[in-house]
Amino acid sequence: MDIINILPDSVANQIAAGEVVDRPASAVKELLENAMDAGATQIDLIIKDAGRTLIQVIDNGCGMSDSDARLCFERHATSKIHKADDLFAIHTMGFRGEALASIAAIAQVELRTRQHDNELGTTIHIEGSQVISQEPTACPIGTSLAVKNLFFNVPARRNFLKKDSVEFSHIEEVFRRVTLIHQDIGFTLTSNGRQIYDLKAGSMLQRISQLFGNPYKERFFNVEEETDVVRIKGFVGKPEYARKTRGEQYLFVNGRFIKHPALSAAVEKAYTDLLPEHTYPSYFIGLQVDPSRIDINIHPTKTEVKFVDDHALFAILRSAVKKALGQFTLATELAFDTPEEFNIAPAPKGYMPPEPKISYNPSYNPFRATPTQTHLHLEKDLKGFNDIKDFKDLKDPKDLRDLKDFKDLNDATPQSLPTSTCLQVQNKYIVTTLSSGLAIIDQQRAHERILFDRLSHSATQSLSLSQTLLFPVNCQFSAADADLFSELLPELRDYGFAVEPLSQCTFVVTATPADMKEGELQSCFDQMLADYKGATMQKFSNRNQALCASLAHQMAIRPGKVLSQEEMQQLVADLFACPMAETAPSGKKIITIVKPEELLKN
Ligand code: ADP
Ligand code: MG
Repeated sequence: MDIINILPDSVANQIAAGEVVDRPASAVKELLENAMDAGATQIDLIIKDAGRTLIQVIDNGCGMSDSDARLCFERHATSKIHKADDLFAIHTMGFRGEALASIAAIAQVELRTRQHDNELGTTIHIEGSQVISQEPTACPIGTSLAVKNLFFNVPARRNFLKKDSVEFSHIEEVFRRVTLIHQDIGFTLTSNGRQIYDLKAGSMLQRISQLFGNPYKERFFNVEEETDVVRIKGFVGKPEYARKTRGEQYLFVNGRFIKHPALSAAVEKAYTDLLPEHTYPSYFIGLQVDPSRIDINIHPTKTEVKFVDDHALFAILRSAVKKALGQFTLATELAFDTPEEFNIAPAPKGYMPPEPKISYNPSYNPFRATPTQTHLHLEKDLKGFNDIKDFKDLKDPKDLRDLKDFKDLNDATPQSLPTSTCLQVQNKYIVTTLSSGLAIIDQQRAHERILFDRLSHSATQSLSLSQTLLFPVNCQFSAADADLFSELLPELRDYGFAVEPLSQCTFVVTATPADMKEGELQSCFDQMLADYKGATMQKFSNRNQALCASLAHQMAIRPGKVLSQEEMQQLVADLFACPMAETAPSGKKIITIVKPEELLKN
């Protein structure tokens, strides 16, 4: 008995569609690429319901003849290659002739197209690979292709679609990847009747700032290089705008967005020593290489590429980026030659500085509780705080060393500490007296605890202390991050941020929690998202705690920050007002108590 069947075309196309079109964004990519291949100079993308009900691309390209309009939906129907050899000289985006056949198998498609030498165009309706109608139409030169009700006959796929905001951010990312590298073409994007982008033909830097916001104009260096192997043109981010995530790294080869870890590494290598740890440069770099030097035998919807000359490419790219950063590097070295601490105005000639004097109170005993106000407060709050380990339990050798330094210092001026006075050691620790002994407080961790309690308190009580910004600040994210960020908006508002989406990937912040420094908003959010996605979040019992901990960590004062006497006293008082004053939200220890008897033993 024979059991082998040849699948009908409609079924074969549906199967192929599974590979080519897995979500609305991939259909968008195919249609935009076809419009570019048709030589369009203006392309309009219209989306409804994140592409679920409508994806339409209108171009002013070459259009199709009546019979091509019918033929383009057949499998392997392509005008872009004729013989196998053509494969090695591909200059177009598509060449397999699969996209339209696949899309027509899983949607209701309306194609309207006209070539410039025809009076009339043609309109075709096709549904699940079946042609429903074809008739002559009056229409502009070019092509309009509308994909309605994607996956109408593939419920499994339809049900797997994410919510609209997610699907739309994928579409937006496809739009960026296409439009960034085709600055000579005008593009618009309209979603649910609202025009989100209107990109005019122009320079790459203009395109970047149209897509990511005006401030981006100032954030990049131009990179350009031409060799036999490759032509490089693009922009690399100034080191000070490096981000905590790799969201803004765009590499293109021959007008196509690619992912290539080795080439990305080449770019990052050029930044060696210029960036703080765990930050990543932004870049938009286009490479032009001879198409025959690329392995095209790779699925067109994938973003991976293989180069014949990848070693040479790596070296050229790295040195081109280095060169672009070169001027900057030189400038930094000059600027930072003298460390800040030595930035003291020169003394006038003949000036003799007075000898330093130490004033002290000879009858002062730091361990006898003199009930000043702060001290009382501390003592009260320290009840229930007796489980603090004494300094013999210190595990961290760094702490021990710090402690030794402190003791040295304390030995030198043992009695110069009045009760409520705090002393800052190494611009990192605050030392003060408690009834139980000397307290050594890690300033950063202490501040983290205070901020964490404040943030999570305002979240539970809905009473946040918020400061309105003089100038609203725009923050931008990658599509995926923007989506996550949108999900976290209710929490952020609880903490005192006033933040609204501007477009799919841009948010405007008009107010922040009172303790926030506005210049750091973008990197703060980037880090928060990175933390949230990363493993560090697992130790927190819920999302709110995790977010508060991440924000508190970033808002907190850093080691190295010089604090005034009032600031230290405020910090200590605020710390002891926290129910869990002994540990930072991360679980690290904040305070070490050195008991007098321990001190005197040595
Ligand atoms: P491919 O792009 O791989 O050739 P597609 O299925 O995407 O395959 O398109 C099939 C053919 O239909 C193309 O080769 C092209 O000739 C024609 N075509 C598709 N879209 C357009 C368009 N917007 N304008 C003109 N011709 C188009
Ligand atoms: Mg195509």
